[in-house]
Amino acid sequence: MHCKKCGKTISEDANYCENCGTPKAGLSWKTALPTAGGVLTIASTTVCMWVGIIGVNAVVSRVGYYLGYPKVPLMIMGIFGFLAFGFGLIGGILALQRTHFAFAVLGAILALTSGIVDMIAFVPEVRVISELFGVPNIILSSLGLLFIALSKDEFTSRK
Ligand SMILES: [Zn+2]
Repeated sequence: MHCKKCGKTISEDANYCENCGTPKAGLSWKTALPTAGGVLTIASTTVCMWVGIIGVNAVVSRVGYYLGYPKVPLMIMGIFGFLAFGFGLIGGILALQRTHFAFAVLGAILALTSGIVDMIAFVPEVRVISELFGVPNIILSSLGLLFIALSKDEFTSRK
């Protein structure tokens, strides 16, 4: 068999790669962590998407519901929401596929950032939106980020 870390051939009776010292048992180590991280990250992006839609609506809408709301914090939340939706979705899918670790982490970080922005950007008028979207987003994306970070060795490409 070959070492997954460095690619050198490992003899069948060896417990460690003679070249880089990676334990053989760890070479085929596979857990549900990247899958859990991917699912949680994707779940958090659906929250980000709604924040994005609300933010854009708040800026372009000329009627009713949004008129009394301050547009700038909603716009900031919306921009971060859409960014996090796009990158988070890609990152979550990469985590499910156990590839491109750095992009999976980036996606989860952006999803978490969107949740934090939701909490920071709030003014009293949009507090409901902040808490309704920000709290679940932070919980989902920080757990997703944690699981992805913990399962770094399971990704085939770590760049
Ligand atoms: Zn090796």
